[in-house]
Amino acid sequence: MKTRIRQAMYGLGGLSVLLVAAPALAQVDPQRNLERIVAERSAFPSGTRVLSVQLQDERAVVELSPDAVAQGLGDEQADEMTRELVAGLDFFSEIREVEILVDGKPLWTYLPASSEPPAAQARSLAAAQPPVDALSLELQGKKIALHPSHGSYWNNTTRRWVRAQRTLTGPNAKTGIPAGWTGSTYTPSDEYFWNRGFQWGSIYEDDITVHVMRFMKEYLESSGAQVFLTRELSDDAGLYDHDHFGYPNTAFPLPKKQVAAKYYLEENGVPRWVWDEPSLSAQSDKDIRARPYYANYVGADLSISLHTNAFGEGAARGTETYWYTAKYPHLQESSKRFAAALNDGAVKSIREYFDDSYGRQAYVNPYPALGVPEWPYYAPYPSPFDYGGYSRWNDRGVKTSNLGEIREAQMPAALIELAFHDSWKWYPDNLFLQDPIFQATSAWGMYEGVCRYFGITPKPRLASKLVAGKVPTLVGPNQVLNASVTFQNEGMTWNWGHRQVNGVYAPYTVWQLRVLEGQTELSAPESISIDEADILHPGDTKTFDVPLVSPSASGLYPLRLTMTKADARGGDFGEEFSALVRVDADAPAISVLSPQPEVYPYGTQRIEFSAEDVWSGVAELTATLDGAPVSSGEEVSGLMPGEHTLVVSAKDGLGNATTFTRTFTVVNSPGMVMGGGWAKLARKKATFGVGVMMIPGTFQPVGHFTFQDHDLGLTLHSAQLQAFGLSGNTATLSGTCTVNHEPGHRFRLELTEGSTGKGGAIRLVLDTGYRLDAPLEGGNVTLLSLEGAYSAAR
Ligand SMILES: [Zn+2]
Repeated sequence: MKTRIRQAMYGLGGLSVLLVAAPALAQVDPQRNLERIVAERSAFPSGTRVLSVQLQDERAVVELSPDAVAQGLGDEQADEMTRELVAGLDFFSEIREVEILVDGKPLWTYLPASSEPPAAQARSLAAAQPPVDALSLELQGKKIALHPSHGSYWNNTTRRWVRAQRTLTGPNAKTGIPAGWTGSTYTPSDEYFWNRGFQWGSIYEDDITVHVMRFMKEYLESSGAQVFLTRELSDDAGLYDHDHFGYPNTAFPLPKKQVAAKYYLEENGVPRWVWDEPSLSAQSDKDIRARPYYANYVGADLSISLHTNAFGEGAARGTETYWYTAKYPHLQESSKRFAAALNDGAVKSIREYFDDSYGRQAYVNPYPALGVPEWPYYAPYPSPFDYGGYSRWNDRGVKTSNLGEIREAQMPAALIELAFHDSWKWYPDNLFLQDPIFQATSAWGMYEGVCRYFGITPKPRLASKLVAGKVPTLVGPNQVLNASVTFQNEGMTWNWGHRQVNGVYAPYTVWQLRVLEGQTELSAPESISIDEADILHPGDTKTFDVPLVSPSASGLYPLRLTMTKADARGGDFGEEFSALVRVDADAPAISVLSPQPEVYPYGTQRIEFSAEDVWSGVAELTATLDGAPVSSGEEVSGLMPGEHTLVVSAKDGLGNATTFTRTFTVVNSPGMVMGGGWAKLARKKATFGVGVMMIPGTFQPVGHFTFQDHDLGLTLHSAQLQAFGLSGNTATLSGTCTVNHEPGHRFRLELTEGSTGKGGAIRLVLDTGYRLDAPLEGGNVTLLSLEGAYSAAR
């Protein structure tokens, strides 16, 4: 409700005087008080007098002289007269009904009659539609009309758009005139402004109510209700095309969000009778009627008008809700019950989910040195006037009085004055109103009130559903990781708030993702706030990226995440995401089957190794023998006597790497081989003779080996013998030799012992590339071990 306060109520100086300036109730003469108001306020035509004021229990009846209506009456004027008189009776806190009479008849009966069509006809015009994407259906089938305060309207006389007034938010430690301040409608006649050089920021009632209604709309629609609006709520709707609709002269661009119901409904194709009541002439009067008419037109089940309040020189606080059914008395019970449900819903929600915990934090006294009193005077709930010494959000209760928006509605209708936007002296309302968390909290309370009116259980305020969660399930140690989780909001809007802290109006957040488990071992942050720009209504989802670092030790590490309202009135809520992160910090296990760390006789060495990795598998397995690549399963010949090194390297799928080193020794075998024989060639034979001995305690074998390939005419004579090995029934011999009398060649010989010349074999390799691998056809080869020195290798 907008109220024009043009005159200082308090001419006295200091703030301390203000604190005790409440007139004692006994001294207030209601009639004198109202006479003063009627004389001062422009809503009352000059000459209007207060003929009588009768107070009885909750009811006040104010009789005005016929001058009040002598020049005709419009809805806006009737509303303002009502508001002024109700405010003038505010000292009598027990008053719940104010009826204004002129000549014994209610004031509203002097208004031009409604020319809207019959109710039955109106209600057939808009059928309920099923909700498109409701989260729940407790309000399915319910049609609810929402009316956010005033909007700008066209003044035919001044040929200008008129905006509902702004109001001051309270003192800031600056000097000068506030930016944008016009001084046209409100005089901050207070010592703060005049004596202390403070200046004020300012807010518009309309800006606040549009925000709150956005939340309200979301809550109702997410519960299945069909919502009907009489104002544009979106910031992004663009500018109103005033030229097109015949209002050419405007001094400033007019966002669609700012225009009053009348223009919004016209632009949206609603029948003319709704927004252009022919019996009224002023646009502002037509506009007031347009809101209830539209609710009638769509056949709404409920009509809700949302306003913020202003009177009492900036000292009044709290929520009050109006109903009025003098025109449609059959709605009395339901309207009163609905107004009470709406009022209680808002008050309870503010008290239980916003009040106090924020209030105390929010209102740190910025100017103690300038005489601004400390808590509890400066902060939320002082009692400068003895209104009962409330210590919580002020419940001003449910009241009834003629107001056009509720009077003309043909269904239960309530007009809620959520808080006082002009409460710049005692603060909480004005600053709370600017806090988006307060807006969302109030709206949720009103949604709960709507549910309770219908006897429906509202859905839980704090609720979230786990939509998706992703976390790396197998990782290496000390890895920078990212988990991702998506929650859907199923309750009141998740958003940032703004509050006054140490004199600065600063953003804060309460809606966060909280890490229940995973902070210590996975280095997860304690919590992650939603983004400052986030406004996550019911049904909206939010994805959080959670940075993690895997620990250095292998193991299973739990991560648990949930949503939280991080304040005294909130806490963790909704579904939980939980997962286990497996950290594999271990390289594959390498095993070398052959060779063992032992002593092998000179001969052929089998290489055999493998690796295993339980969690991430073996990605890479390589080996070198004395520096040269070697594979598992390979048979390596001719490893000379001495120490040899096999190095096996393995890496798992996560890059954990290790090497395993195996050293072993090749030795000459003490023993001998002697004899001779032949093998078949393509045309002729190959013949050989051998007599070699490895004497224990010596370093190299002695003896002789000769060989002839008769097909090729190749003759070999051993020169110096270098290695001799016995393994099973095979003797291996290597050394230098002459080939066809040419010195400096090398050979390697394996002779397998047969029995009586059969079953034996000769394998000879020369550095010339010559190879022979053939069974023995005749002759005799004898092997003899001279010691058990090599037996360990068997
Ligand atoms: Zn208002």
